[in-house]
Amino acid sequence: MSKTDLRPAVTLRQPAELLAHGFVPADALADLEKVAARYAVAVTPDMAALIDPGDPDDPIARQFIPRAEELVSGPGENADPIGDQTHSPVPGIVHRYPDRVLFKVVHVCAVYCRFCFRREMVGPAKGTGLAQAAYERAIDYIRMHPEIWEVILTGGDPLMLSPRRLTEVMADIAGIDHAKIIRLHTRVPVADPSRITGDLIAALKVRGATTWVALHANHARELTEKARAACAGIIDAGVPMVSQSVLLRGVNDNAAALEALMRAFVECRIKPYYLHHGDLAPGTAHLRTTLEHGQQLMRALRGRVSGLCQPDYVLDIPGGHGKSPVGPGYLSPANSFPRQREPDAETRYRIADYCGDVHLYPPKS
Ligand code: SF4
Repeated sequence: MSKTDLRPAVTLRQPAELLAHGFVPADALADLEKVAARYAVAVTPDMAALIDPGDPDDPIARQFIPRAEELVSGPGENADPIGDQTHSPVPGIVHRYPDRVLFKVVHVCAVYCRFCFRREMVGPAKGTGLAQAAYERAIDYIRMHPEIWEVILTGGDPLMLSPRRLTEVMADIAGIDHAKIIRLHTRVPVADPSRITGDLIAALKVRGATTWVALHANHARELTEKARAACAGIIDAGVPMVSQSVLLRGVNDNAAALEALMRAFVECRIKPYYLHHGDLAPGTAHLRTTLEHGQQLMRALRGRVSGLCQPDYVLDIPGGHGKSPVGPGYLSPANSFPRQREPDAETRYRIADYCGDVHLYPPKS
């Protein structure tokens, strides 16, 4: 039987299924059963088809195939690493910044990412979706807060909703006068592009609000022909798309991989938006990089691709203090290096170019 014959026709959810398809070794099974009992596992056929079972470092496998390291929580790791609970006034809503809320209508996803910062909250075993009474309370909360301009549907993955239910949710939000923007964060167009049907795309469009879709992908290989067609369907319907990615060790933590990913987004008419530093979710240390390495990569990216391909490198501050840009700085006061002090230093800056060479600004006339 060839490797192709082993490719699954359905989503793999059990370690034994991963073993049967050659994605994990037999001697890892006992540990992986423990991992799967704690954190949901799902590898869709589309994602499984991208994995080379013969490559122990496959960047797609690292994102979706569970590993024993997930059983070990590292220093600083936390079940709620970005403080969703602290900022949740009613179930389903996270209100961290004045003008926007997260609205978590579903708790399931097409795939379960091994680095997910909500891994303690997503998956079929983590309760149910928002019950109708809680849903209505969340909608009321948005209605009662006129400062909320943007509602971000996140997860779980909002594109796991049926077109009928998504239409209702979009209409409920868009029916609130001050809610002008609805942003959906999703992995479905890459993980399960067949779900992006005409009906689902139609559900994204709603009178009374502007819809944006943020696509989560971390490696250029995820942007398959099917995924690109799914995204094109969304964008052709008039819904703009941005990207979000997570900087992940062994997946995209080198300049060539990041360059290929950002170019792929732009080729798909998706503007690179965020590159997240890995959050301190439990059992994810093996996938995180250092901030210093992330900054080096952002410097390298600046020299390799145009501004169109540049995401913001951001860190969600633990405890719920929000996102801050953590990319490298290029500008410093000219008098910040005392031994190089110049007479007119107060009015001049040092600025690094994309090659790392430093110049004075304004230059001497
Ligand atoms: S799709 Fe998003 S919410 Fe779901 S497991 Fe992946 S990162 Fe977490």
